[in-house]
Amino acid sequence: MAQFELLTAHRDIRAAQRKFEKALDAALPRRPGRYTVGYPGGKIDDATLQSNGLIWHYRQILNDAAIPRYWNAFGLVETLATNRSNSITVEINSPLDGANGSVAGLFARDQDGGFAVLHSGKIGGGKKGVGKAEFVAALQEKPIFVVDPTHPNKTREVFLLARLDDPRAIHGVTRFVVEVARFKDKTDAEEAEALSTKVLRDRAEANTGKPKRVLREVAVFERNEYVTAYAKRRANGRCDLCGERAPFEVKGVPFLECHHILPLADNGDDTIANAVALCPNCHRRMHMVHTDADLKALRRKADT
Ligand SMILES: [Zn+2]
Repeated sequence: MAQFELLTAHRDIRAAQRKFEKALDAALPRRPGRYTVGYPGGKIDDATLQSNGLIWHYRQILNDAAIPRYWNAFGLVETLATNRSNSITVEINSPLDGANGSVAGLFARDQDGGFAVLHSGKIGGGKKGVGKAEFVAALQEKPIFVVDPTHPNKTREVFLLARLDDPRAIHGVTRFVVEVARFKDKTDAEEAEALSTKVLRDRAEANTGKPKRVLREVAVFERNEYVTAYAKRRANGRCDLCGERAPFEVKGVPFLECHHILPLADNGDDTIANAVALCPNCHRRMHMVHTDADLKALRRKADT
């Protein structure tokens, strides 16, 4: 495995930040509109963001901060709103120079001198149960080790997001931001689960009025209507998974939903060999629980 050494010299860090910015600017066009970006203890109004439709990015140089640093903020487009403050999912910040354990973003170089962007995995917003240890445990990726030249005997455990010479660098950054967002969502839901019913009810009752309006942008696949119609006709009113009759009819037609066995989002084909018709219960089941037995059963149905 490649050995990484932390960049600590001002000019190296600046060069790496420039490369990082170049990669971000090439992949994340300016997003129309003005947004508010919130951070612990403040917010930035009228911010112009950059985005690839999945993640958004905002950056500044914080010269006057306690630890002067490059501030590279990222969030999910899915929850981006124009009428309220947007919280940051993850910051990939590097001190302007030197090394600082309390700043989570890092730049490093490998043996060949190539720069890489890394993150310490500290992503908590001060919330209980959201810390590095939990994150490391939840993440698919295993951390790597980076040598801090100012403390050569100590290595730091970090996540490699991307090599900055890699034209696909943005994919590594996007994946990391999405994974952090998923992890934070999961811990929010787990926190609610762990509350007593009384506390949960108090909190639910404290929520009054209308929900926040969130503008979502989602990429959708245009499905072929003949594939959908054929999958439903083949099912003949019975769910392809549980075999039960559709639970209700709409205008005399049994209600079933078309489902792609290998999701279109995972590069699945929009063909009748990959499409089945499911009752709403089984449809939800296929999106929430993944068992080989279900997949096998559906593939058999789609093949007939
Ligand atoms: Zn069913």
